[in-house]
Amino acid sequence: MKIGTCSILESIDPIASYEAAISERSDNAEPNTSKRAKRSVAVHTTFWKPGRTLKIAMYDEDQKTIDKVKSIASKWIENANLKFEFVSGAVGDIRIKIMPSKTGTSISQLGTDALLHPPEEPTMTIGLALEHAEFEATILHEFGHVLGLHHEHQHPDANIPWDLEKVYVWYKEEFNLERARVDSDVLPLPRRKNYTYGDYDPLSIMHYDIDSRLTINNWSHPRGYTLSRKDLEVVSKIYPHGTPYIPHSLIELLNKIKAPFTGSSN
Ligand SMILES: [Zn+2]
Repeated sequence: MKIGTCSILESIDPIASYEAAISERSDNAEPNTSKRAKRSVAVHTTFWKPGRTLKIAMYDEDQKTIDKVKSIASKWIENANLKFEFVSGAVGDIRIKIMPSKTGTSISQLGTDALLHPPEEPTMTIGLALEHAEFEATILHEFGHVLGLHHEHQHPDANIPWDLEKVYVWYKEEFNLERARVDSDVLPLPRRKNYTYGDYDPLSIMHYDIDSRLTINNWSHPRGYTLSRKDLEVVSKIYPHGTPYIPHSLIELLNKIKAPFTGSSN
C-alpha cells in the first residue's frame, strides 16, 4: 500500500529559528552539554519549555475530529511534563489543517519553529482523512515533529542501504518531491562533529517505512503504528516532571557565582 510521506517545514531563517528556540528554552542552544536525551539532528534543538501548555488549534473541524486527534496526540505526553490544550479555530501555537490529498503528504513545523510561522497559516497539514488506516500513525508522527523530534531514518547510524537514484525518481513520481526535499526529509543527514546522538531506534514512529524497491538487495523496513518504548522515553527525558525546569546554562552560571564563597562562614 502506498502511503503518504512527510515533510518537515523548517524555518527559512536559521537565525530566527535559533533565537525563537533559545528564548523558549535556553538549553536548546547546547545539545551537547545537557544531560537530557539527544535526538534531534539539527544544529540547535527546538524543544518547548517543560511544563508549558501548547495551544493546538484545529481549523473548521467538528468536535469528533478534534477529540480523535487529541486522544492520539496525547499518547506522546502521558509521561512528559507538557500539556496540550485543543481548541477549535485558527489561533494557537500549533495550527492543524486536515487536507486529504492525492499524495497523502503531511507537513509539520519542527518544535519551536512553529512560533515563526505566519499566524494565518497552518503549522501542520495532514494529508489523510480521519477514516484512513494510516491516520493515527500519521498524527503520532507529525506530533513527534511538534515536540521537536527529527526523522529517525535520517539518523547517521541508520545505515539504510538506499539505492539513491531510485529514491530520487520514486519520490518525484509518487510525491512530486524535488531532490533537495528528498535530501532533507528522507536520506541520512551528515553526522555533525561534537554532537552526541541518541541510539538509533528502528521502531520509532519517526521512522519511515522503507520500500524494498528503493534499496539495494531488496532491503525493507515496515513502518511503526504506535510509539516505541524509546519514543516515550526520549520525550519524557526532554520534558521531565519533578524539579522545576532550570536551564543548564543557568545552573552553570549559579555554580560559578557560588564557587568563590564556598567555605566562608559569616
Ligand atoms: Zn516526518
